[in-house]
Amino acid sequence: MPELPDLVHVEDVLRKTIAGKTITGARTGDPTVLRIMVGEPFPALLVGRRIETVERRGHFMRFGISGGLVVVVNAMLVGRYKLLPHAPGAPKKDPKKDPRALGLALDFEDAPELQYLDDKRMGKVYVARAEDEAKIPIYGGIGLDLMSPAFTRAAFGAAMARRRDQVRAFLMDKSALASIGNAYADEILFAAGLHPKTFCRKIDPPGVDALYESIGRVLTEAIAEIRRRDQPIEIKVRDFLVVRGRDGKPCLVCGTTIRSVRVGAGDACFCPTCQPETRKLFVNWSQLGDRKA
Ligand SMILES: [Zn+2]
Repeated sequence: MPELPDLVHVEDVLRKTIAGKTITGARTGDPTVLRIMVGEPFPALLVGRRIETVERRGHFMRFGISGGLVVVVNAMLVGRYKLLPHAPGAPKKDPKKDPRALGLALDFEDAPELQYLDDKRMGKVYVARAEDEAKIPIYGGIGLDLMSPAFTRAAFGAAMARRRDQVRAFLMDKSALASIGNAYADEILFAAGLHPKTFCRKIDPPGVDALYESIGRVLTEAIAEIRRRDQPIEIKVRDFLVVRGRDGKPCLVCGTTIRSVRVGAGDACFCPTCQPETRKLFVNWSQLGDRKA
């Protein structure tokens, strides 16, 4: 799925391109991807309205629409956003010819066409009244936004203290943290020197500090790199990642072969040397001895 750093770039580009523009047409290739939570027919309920705001919230993209509506997109796995060059005077498109992967297309009078495409059709596009947006599944219950001032060391520590699961599952739990996917979970754990199967309760306060700091640093650096590359929004820029997708290749820090391991429902890439299963570094043996005595 597009992850937070990708979506920050998408948000920047879409805000510049379509914010303030009036929708002249809307289409979908698969009505099951489009969830209309408003008692009005599609596409008439969107046509003639203006895009007022474009805002990323966690891994969701939220479009504020004039007249008190929102369009909220949950891009899963292979979902992607795309802008098509504006073609004034082009013949009207035949919705019957749209591929099923087209979740939603929005046309504008004087801006590129925006498409949300999803080859696996696992993502969802919701159209709702703004007052009902908390009812949108998952979106209504997302956790701490990692780019917001609310993401403090104290808030992170409090969220983690309640966890009995493995650290990678915690990082990827959207109801706790908004939002980390497979790629950046691996990058963050590598930066923190934590094995992906470490249980949250086994991580001591310096380990939590390292994890908190790594989340901020890895995401901020990725955002800067993706902005610098400034690729079209449908392209996921991932070639700068240090562990994700590099299993079988040497670790860039120590040369050990990066491995892939099953963790919960997903696969994690990690370096067995930089991310040992037990992190003795954090254990203060003398203190443990005192406690026993
Ligand atoms: Zn290593």
